[in-house]
Amino acid sequence: MKHIKDNYNGSVQLRCVVCGATDKFDSNEDNSYIKCTNCGKEYFGGYDELVEYNQQEINEAVEAKVEEIKNDLDKELQNMFRNAFKGNKYIKVK
Ligand SMILES: [Zn+2]
Repeated sequence: MKHIKDNYNGSVQLRCVVCGATDKFDSNEDNSYIKCTNCGKEYFGGYDELVEYNQQEINEAVEAKVEEIKNDLDKELQNMFRNAFKGNKYIKVK
């Protein structure tokens, strides 16, 4: 029980709302109950509750990721267009 979903690339670590610890969680098998072993805070809502507390941070991480993907896509598109127009006689180069 360390990272959010794989598709976030593990860039967000859930944080204990009380003490801020990120790696002191004890959880049952299906993450429906989580306890912070650092401060003793119990999350009876389990994983979902913890995610809720961390939502802001998660959103920011997701936005950063989207930005990153956008930049990569931009570069990719530019390359595609460059290649597509290469040698095209209808494009005039001044
Ligand atoms: Zn804690």
